[in-house]
Parts: sequence; C-alpha cells; structure tokens
Amino acid sequence: MSRHTCTDPKHHVHDAAGFVGAVERACQERGLRLTPIRARVLGFIADAGKPLKAYDLLEQVRVGEGAGAAAPPTVYRALDFLLANGFIHKLQSVNSFVACHHPSTTQHSVPFLICDRCHSAVELEDKHVVDLLDERARVLGFVPQAQTLEVHGLCGDCAAKAA
Ligand SMILES: [Zn+2]
Ligand SMILES: [Zn+2]
Repeated sequence: MSRHTCTDPKHHVHDAAGFVGAVERACQERGLRLTPIRARVLGFIADAGKPLKAYDLLEQVRVGEGAGAAAPPTVYRALDFLLANGFIHKLQSVNSFVACHHPSTTQHSVPFLICDRCHSAVELEDKHVVDLLDERARVLGFVPQAQTLEVHGLCGDCAAKAA
C-alpha cells in the first residue's frame, strides 16, 4: 500500500473514470462492493474537479438517465459508504464533497485548504498535523474520530491575483 506526501495543488483527480477504476480495485482488495449508484455518485464528485455541493450532486443524479435516476436517500446512503471508506471527504463548512486522491488508504483525518475565491480545495497530506492534533486531544482524555480540518483563505493563484 503506497502512501505519498502530496501538497501540490495541481495534484487533483484529473481523470474521473480512472479514479472510479482505482476505487473499484480498492473495494475488491478490501472486500467492499462498489454498486452502480455508488460508482455514479463517485464519478460525479471526481468529475467536478472541485468540491461538489450536495444539492448540485442530488440534481445531477436526479436528472440522470431515466431508470438510473436515484432518490435523495439512495444518494445519501451511497455518500455514507464513500465517506466511511475514505474515498471522498465532506467539507462541512461549504456543504460539499470532494474526491480523495489517495483512495487506497482507509478513512483518514485530513486538513483541507479551501479557497474562498475560486472554491478549490486542496488536501494537505501532512501526518504531523494530524498526529499532533490526535495526541493533544488524547492528553485531554478526548478520543477523536477521523476529522476533516477546514482551513479557509485564498489559494496561491488567487492570493497572487489579489496582491
Ligand atoms: Zn484523503
Ligand atoms: Zn483560489
């Protein structure tokens, strides 16, 4: 299982089909089932290239081809599966979902850098930040679950434009 350190904002999920394929393989390895609706929801999120709002996702699935259309509860169950297994992340502060670019790892804590201007989100893969937070919480007797840390601001491009 490969882990890489990736803080390069250009490192996004470029190819939605390839990403869904990678998740499919990860599911096989972990004995999970990527049902058609789960794969479709994942495909929409990967295809968006930036955080996809929950209501936009529901709309995309709803207008999907005839019999393929799914009701919100079905979509939410698919999202729960994808979240629980670490294939996507939820950004609470912007009520959006984003594909995880290292789907071979299980559910993990991760800081996200969210640009308030262009609405991009970069997954900052820094184990030290996560470990430190975990350690400090445990000192207080707190048992943290996998968390998404959301840091708002301006990305490099937008900051440069604003300067
Ligand atoms: Zn991730
Ligand atoms: Zn930006």
